[in-house]
Amino acid sequence: MEEYRGIILKKISYKENSEIIYLYTEVGLVGVLVHGSKTIKSPYLNLTKVLNHVKVIAGGKNLKVLRDGEIINNYSQIHESLEKYTYLTHMVELVYFFATHEHDHEKLYNFLLKIIEEVKNNLEYIPYINMVELKMLYLLGVNPNLNSCIVCQETNNLVFSVKEGGALCTNHLPEKYYSNQVLRVIQKLYYHDINKQPQISVSKEFLIDIRNAIDEYYEYHLNYHSKTRKMLKGLIGY
Ligand SMILES: [Zn+2]
Repeated sequence: MEEYRGIILKKISYKENSEIIYLYTEVGLVGVLVHGSKTIKSPYLNLTKVLNHVKVIAGGKNLKVLRDGEIINNYSQIHESLEKYTYLTHMVELVYFFATHEHDHEKLYNFLLKIIEEVKNNLEYIPYINMVELKMLYLLGVNPNLNSCIVCQETNNLVFSVKEGGALCTNHLPEKYYSNQVLRVIQKLYYHDINKQPQISVSKEFLIDIRNAIDEYYEYHLNYHSKTRKMLKGLIGY
């Protein structure tokens, strides 16, 4: 028998009334079968929701089976905003997709808990999601080079190129790039230490460019886009 605390990133149906939940924990991804969780009478009916922070006790050799569990936080306020919830669904889908990579899971797990808390508490929460997406690039080994021109190491008047994987100076301008201001926002988000300073704000005028730059980066360097992204576009319009 083992105890896990984790964020539910995904769940799939199993047989008629049961589900397997995939928790992101300090030790990485853990799948747990919850018998009968889809029946109205189940005490775990509400436990198995995506995004819930839960504590479970599970046993079993191959597939772990839930013996007991409780909700630590169901983030009910987040569910009141479809847009927030969809953004977080996009985020947990990303974490799930790359959860079996060799990361510092303990660090990422604690970081995600802080991010979800900030998303819950802030009206302008989108930069927190962007922060996760940018910091994940480092964990995935495709981190952008942001502080000097990739070609000549110049540190002034830089722009951001998705294809080149980072900053370029005015002497080495690529065909397509994001402005110096956008690069600065990316730097700010990428290096932000949420443990030292929880608050971060990004001027709204850059949000669309940041969204596009991140999407393009994932597509180009990891061949990845979330399934939720389309739904998100329907809600936010870009
Ligand atoms: Zn240069």
